[in-house]
Amino acid sequence: MPVSCTTQCGRRAILRRPKTGTALCKECFFEAFETEVHHTITSGNLFQPEQVVAIAASGGKDSTVLAYIMKHLNDKYDYKLNLMLLSIDEGITGYRDDSLDTVKQNKEDYQLPLKILSYQDLYGWTMDKIVEEVGKKNNCTFCGVFRRQALERGAVMMGASCIATGHNADDIAETVLMNIMRGDIARLGRCCSSVTSSDGALPRVKPLKFCYEKEIVMYAYFRKLVYFSTECVFAPNAYRGHARTFLKDLERIRPSVIMDIIHSGENLMFQSGVKTPQQSTCVRCGHVSSQELCQACTLLTCLNEGRAKHGVSKKSHKIKTLREPV
Ligand code: SF4
Repeated sequence: MPVSCTTQCGRRAILRRPKTGTALCKECFFEAFETEVHHTITSGNLFQPEQVVAIAASGGKDSTVLAYIMKHLNDKYDYKLNLMLLSIDEGITGYRDDSLDTVKQNKEDYQLPLKILSYQDLYGWTMDKIVEEVGKKNNCTFCGVFRRQALERGAVMMGASCIATGHNADDIAETVLMNIMRGDIARLGRCCSSVTSSDGALPRVKPLKFCYEKEIVMYAYFRKLVYFSTECVFAPNAYRGHARTFLKDLERIRPSVIMDIIHSGENLMFQSGVKTPQQSTCVRCGHVSSQELCQACTLLTCLNEGRAKHGVSKKSHKIKTLREPV
């Protein structure tokens, strides 16, 4: 039997929201989803008028929805933001080369300027070559550290004053779980913030912080957005994969668990009182770093000296990143 839209708009419901369980028609789902993102942006003061915002665009569902919705809300609510797309080409054959075609399509569809920076140009290495050197165990450590710095460098080149990323509620809940399992309280605090900034680095903002992954997929599907859905050929990251599976199992039993974990992480953040490390600049590349040599330069040195496996040992430089931190 047909179900009516819960908003009583008179239309037929075509979906049940994973986040709230409410039955909605397509138009009311768009309205609810977009209003929530607008609320995240305004209540968290994520942007200022006239700001140049670099949207980290990978061609995947999250960044495609982010680019679409940022453009839509910027027009609808007159945020007065200057939006741009920024993509990083890690040099992964059969994955990034294809997904960059999607980003180029996004550029045309949304009429936003696009800049692409490659690991090859920035570091003299591609991920294909790095994997040949280090194998598939620690490759994501190199990729995450290099991507984080590459985004910063690209955004500075574009004249942006902040970087918007497509991290969603599931990503953040997974990271909370991972940081709890590692006992990393400092990262636990940072991963829950919708704006993360450190001295000298551009702020990173997460407008999709409260959006469930399932709803992002639904939104992209019903909006008919073009995105790239193939997984990286060097995935999966085993540790995050376990946290993801655990979270999905919990979500099946109790859908609110994703928001509950984020709120727990936020509360722990306020109670922990852990100070973030003092930031200065890397003596070699001049980018922001809490140590004399930044993580990217440390890893690059190890690669260039043929000591790449040593570069990710915890003893050497405490590099524990398994994916770009959210
Ligand atoms: Fe990079 Fe790992 Fe992500 Fe592939 S799965 S894009 S290697 S971080």
